Amino acid sequence: LRALLVAEADLGERIMRALILRRVNLIQGGVGGPVLIGPSHSAGVVRLQGFLTRNGQPHHLLDPAHDRDAAELIARYSPKPQDWPLVVAASGAVLRNPNETELARAIGMIGGAKDDRIYDVAVVGCGPAGLATAVYAASEGLSVAVLDIRAFGGQAGASARIENYLGFPTGISGQALTARAFTQAQKFGADIMIPVTVKSLDCTRKDGAFSVALDGCDPLRSRAVVVA
Ligand SMILES: Cc1cc2nc3c(=O)[nH]c(=O)nc-3n(C[C@H](O)[C@H](O)[C@H](O)COP(=O)(O)OP(=O)(O)OC[C@H]3O[C@@H](n4cnc5c(N)ncnc54)[C@H](O)[C@@H]3O)c2cc1C
Repeated sequence: LRALLVAEADLGERIMRALILRRVNLIQGGVGGPVLIGPSHSAGVVRLQGFLTRNGQPHHLLDPAHDRDAAELIARYSPKPQDWPLVVAASGAVLRNPNETELARAIGMIGGAKDDRIYDVAVVGCGPAGLATAVYAASEGLSVAVLDIRAFGGQAGASARIENYLGFPTGISGQALTARAFTQAQKFGADIMIPVTVKSLDCTRKDGAFSVALDGCDPLRSRAVVVA
């Protein structure tokens, strides 16, 4: 499908538009994605909702104070105070007060083991510079991995309104602008992994590839590394 999106411009535009509108609909409707169960003002709920919202991930909150379905799940899993919030992933897995990395793994934001794969380009940072690198490299047919510690969009993702970006005469929010680039990079096949912290770069090349050391995951290997 991805090859078709790129090769057939008219059809690709229709499908991309449908996928984007579907995602917007899921986010606005609060349906699809993981279900968070916990008091809406608790620190864990606010932390995970912030992470999911910043990364454009649809999700749904059930507050046990108001929701009977939440009460039933709580009776089944009897969480202790430190277990809040519970998170139910689409796979059915139930996580207890997960950190952002555990949640991202459960909903497929980081992807599986890459084994001996060697990418053409590894991009450290998913802000505007990293996203631009990913779009240009992937659209030229290079294999691309993009790693970010927090969210796509970088600093620009936190900007309420960007007035000086070429081509947007009425201005655009940083998240809307960078979400377009994020989707564009994925369309061309870039593997985007968030949240992943890059710890160091090993410049001794083996089989023509650098090794990028990651916190909590196996190193990633790539022929070129762009620190963005
Ligand atoms: C609130 C706000 C409003 C702004 N408004 C405007 C504006 O209106 N117009 C304008 O021109 N500019 C604006 N800027 C500035 C603009 O956002 C930045 O110039 C731009 O984001 C820089 O892009 P970048 O990709 O180079 O770096 P960044 O946006 O800083 O992205 C770097 C990315 O690298 C990631 N990262 C860092 N270390 C690691 C690591 N070890 N491992 C993995 N990932 C890592 C970070 O999480 C981040 O996502 C604004 C900035 C802010 C904060």
